Amino acid sequence: MSERGGGAFDPDTIASEGTYEAALHAAGGAVALVEALVGGVASVGFCGLRPPGHHAEPREAMGFCFFNNIAVAAQHALNALGLERVFVLDWDVHHGNGTNDVFHASPQVLFASIHQYPWYPGTGPLTDVGSGDGEGYSINLPVPSGAGEDVWLSLVEHVVMPAARAFEPQLVLISAGFDAHRDDPLGMCMLEASSFASMAVWMRSLADSLGVPVGAMLEGGYDLRALAASCAATLGALRDGGEPSSVEPHPLAVEAARVVGRRWPLPLAGGAATS
Ligand SMILES: [Zn+2]
Repeated sequence: MSERGGGAFDPDTIASEGTYEAALHAAGGAVALVEALVGGVASVGFCGLRPPGHHAEPREAMGFCFFNNIAVAAQHALNALGLERVFVLDWDVHHGNGTNDVFHASPQVLFASIHQYPWYPGTGPLTDVGSGDGEGYSINLPVPSGAGEDVWLSLVEHVVMPAARAFEPQLVLISAGFDAHRDDPLGMCMLEASSFASMAVWMRSLADSLGVPVGAMLEGGYDLRALAASCAATLGALRDGGEPSSVEPHPLAVEAARVVGRRWPLPLAGGAATS
């Protein structure tokens, strides 16, 4: 296949003659967002990117993704903008395997993914915590088919938030897929548009408490009404912020805290980090 020709990378990932340029624009849009955020032009931002990016590996397009937009942007913030720590929350219903792999051995990017499991692409068990210098810097939070916001919001509040606070990122990024919505045909989770807003309020709260910017980049989302409503709810929540609402620790959060708590000070795991 030529650089600008069409063709199928895999059964899900079909390229047309316009795909290469569109994918460059998507990755460039993610970079432009991060430049605006780090440069102080805006403290909150959202990129409605297509094609999405979080499944793309450094040398492999997959899962509708060609370039890993959020990974390119996060690495740009580290390489070109002088940042040392970037936090990424991936709330797409599918595991962000590409982003996870790009930063698997890096302590400069704390990557957290909440995803239906087992499900496409099959990666992201709780036990995958990163490797080498990045051990502990991958937080994989699998949830079962049918999981609703009681599970998702508990993981955000009781696992993701305390770890991210302790990491003290200089930039908060979100791989904002909306296919965990109950109406989505490619996921089997039960979130509502308001559930995404609740997660966004937590991320805005994290950013505000650290005095750093927060940006979200669109990933999946395949029921167009649900996608539109969820995007709008997320945009409003990121803009307005507010007090996050607390939920009870779900048993899955307690289980996850036992693993994540080995590296990060999680109250559910006794509160003490070990390194
Ligand atoms: Zn997805």
